[in-house]
Amino acid sequence: MKLKPALILLAVALLFAAAVPAAYGAHSIAAPGAAPLEFTLEPDEPTETPLSPQQLPPPTMTELADGVYHYFGLFSSSLVVIDGGQVLVTDPSNNARAQSLQEEIAKLTDDPVSIIALTHEHFDHVGGTSVFPDATVICHVNCQPQFDLDVLGDVPEVDLTFDTKMDVGVGNKLVELHYLGPGDGEATTVIYMPNEQIVVTSDLYEPRALTGKNWVDDKNFTGVRQILNTISQWPIKHAINAHSPGTAPQDLQENVAYYNDLFNAVYTALSDAASQGGIRALFGVFVSLPQTLQLEQYQDWENYDTSFPRHVERMLQAITHAD
Ligand SMILES: [Zn+2]
Repeated sequence: MKLKPALILLAVALLFAAAVPAAYGAHSIAAPGAAPLEFTLEPDEPTETPLSPQQLPPPTMTELADGVYHYFGLFSSSLVVIDGGQVLVTDPSNNARAQSLQEEIAKLTDDPVSIIALTHEHFDHVGGTSVFPDATVICHVNCQPQFDLDVLGDVPEVDLTFDTKMDVGVGNKLVELHYLGPGDGEATTVIYMPNEQIVVTSDLYEPRALTGKNWVDDKNFTGVRQILNTISQWPIKHAINAHSPGTAPQDLQENVAYYNDLFNAVYTALSDAASQGGIRALFGVFVSLPQTLQLEQYQDWENYDTSFPRHVERMLQAITHAD
């Protein structure tokens, strides 16, 4: 996360506002007739004071190409495409954010949002679609199994699914939805506008920051590497990622290098151990490498100190277990 811990605290508090009275600390929930389930939500740095809603940065709507915008509000990105009486948005996220998104779009067009494309199945991206009742909701076919587990009551009714690729027309503009394999979650969708050379990804990377260790458990590290390598070959003028306001393609390219460097270092260690000591030596690598491996060129990236060993573990798991 590139965000300050206080901002993360507030974002999570807002996300949970309807369901959990206080975002962090001990909680219990219970299904009718069942014993309560105790759980604790812990931020990385719980001592910072959350911002009040008045201290939230105002949303921004940045025009990237004719009729194509990057909305950034409540710590999340949406692509907005307006053409020919149609409006496409990505990832409304939740009702409060969707209403803000609606207000900003109303400054640009009177046309209602007609298409919502979701970037993946995670709960912090898929809520708020009911704010746009006229919209057709598109999500990869792998979204529904996760939506069946919804605890917030906020997942959308999906109108259209796709398997490997879907072309969506927005007026005269083309928006491509690509499934390039699992990345962050199982329904990872890369959105690309080939004519405008704009790509949108969610939760695959952030500028000069490692994904925090608490958020990597369902991130497929070899999958993320493959996806980033694939899209880095496409012509790109703007690369929108989920949780930062910038769109510089360099941020994407630096993360391509990071994932390749991490993969190469871990793969080399595993190969060397296997050739010298077989499967027993591989187990030794699992124990030692997260403590010993360093990639010095990334030591100034945010979260490196706290999260790099966990990244090494996840890459070890991805290479040997394929997830
Ligand atoms: Zn995610």
